[in-house]
Amino acid sequence: MKEEKNQFNSDRRNLLKTLGLASAAGMAGTFGNVSDLSASTRPASQPDYAKAVAPVRIRSVKAIATAPSGPNLIVVKIETTEPGLYGLGCATFTQRAAAVVTAINGYLNDFCVGKDVDNIEDMWQSFYVSSYWRNGPVLNNALSGMDQALWDIKGKRANMPVYQLLGGKARFSIPCYVHADAKTAEGVADNVQRLMSEGYKHIRIQQGLYGATQLAQQPDFKDAKYGAANDGFMDQQSYIDSVPKLFDFVRKKCGDDVELCHDIHERLEPMDAINMIKKLEDYRPLFLEDPFSPENMGWFKQLRQTTTVPIAMGELFNNINEFREPMVKKWFDYIRCHISQIGGITQAMKIARLGEWFNVRTIWHGPSDTSPVGHAANCHVDLAIWNFGLQEVGGGNFTDKLKEVFPGCPSIGKGYVNINDQPGLGVDINEKEAAKYPIKSGRGGWIVRKRDGTVIRP
Ligand code: MG
Repeated sequence: MKEEKNQFNSDRRNLLKTLGLASAAGMAGTFGNVSDLSASTRPASQPDYAKAVAPVRIRSVKAIATAPSGPNLIVVKIETTEPGLYGLGCATFTQRAAAVVTAINGYLNDFCVGKDVDNIEDMWQSFYVSSYWRNGPVLNNALSGMDQALWDIKGKRANMPVYQLLGGKARFSIPCYVHADAKTAEGVADNVQRLMSEGYKHIRIQQGLYGATQLAQQPDFKDAKYGAANDGFMDQQSYIDSVPKLFDFVRKKCGDDVELCHDIHERLEPMDAINMIKKLEDYRPLFLEDPFSPENMGWFKQLRQTTTVPIAMGELFNNINEFREPMVKKWFDYIRCHISQIGGITQAMKIARLGEWFNVRTIWHGPSDTSPVGHAANCHVDLAIWNFGLQEVGGGNFTDKLKEVFPGCPSIGKGYVNINDQPGLGVDINEKEAAKYPIKSGRGGWIVRKRDGTVIRP
């Protein structure tokens, strides 16, 4: 009898706890009184959909560094107080990967631990100003990774893919462009034809790497032993001559049923870039990318008065404010930026919405130095916004090694990049596999010089 009474009291306590009525019951005195509460004073039971918003806090943050397909990739992993619930975000800055790892493990972790995972905007704004000096690469990469990981967690908590939380689909899938690079114009055209046969309708053509650096002969500065052994050389005039010839060759060989684009990579003198772009008008490029370095934004006025070739810009921008004036002044047609640098999904959505007001469309940066988590973040935004333009998938496809390290990795078919419908960003990481591919130093390889050894700004 005593056991039965104890069981009843225990059941009663649990029920009251569940209903959140412990204090009311204490005042009422008996269980029976609780059921007598009038409808107006009876607390409503919490509906299932609201239960998902119970506070969950951050337990730890760490960087995972891996290079399964060559380029250094950095992923932020945020673990929570909810068992098994974690989020992943891409923080890749391939040339300074070790610095980003330090920013994540040394600073982001301290900042995040104990905080509520739900308040993404507040977390973004707080971390942004937490170091006083701000708005540069490395810390921005850490911040972008945090932001994506929090969206991943939010999606998992809501049991929805992130694009649903951003408003749902504005298109059934995501048209993408890939790269047809080769040393010769013939090689580029062959690659374009192969990619067209695989279903691609948008292809970037690039001969001899950026600025045709592979085409250059031994430069004078190398003979003089100036600079480092692995510094690149670009002969700007041969590049300027080669690009219209490349477009002419590819258009004649591959026809008009393909959209062609090209990346200048900011490596020309501004007026030379303008003159070269003008010569490409007859070949109907889809867009020319990065005509000027960010230091030369003032040249856009001249460019727009001179040619109507569509322009993509913004890959090296660090902050959404850098887009404001160019959009108002209609200086370019496509937004190019690295979501894992500009501030994550939260900032990408703001830039995209700003672009909608001016009919400027998106082409998020998506080369092979973006992790599959970052590619997925690009794609979730791509699906949800109206002013989507195109998506770069630089590697052309995701390698088997990438798929092993990143289960749920996006896939490409018939010129579209596709993501799964799992809750969150839909991409996981196998940390054991990731550890098999350590990152490299990333030093060098990005310095390109003129014939006399002057450094060229990308
Ligand atoms: Mg570029």
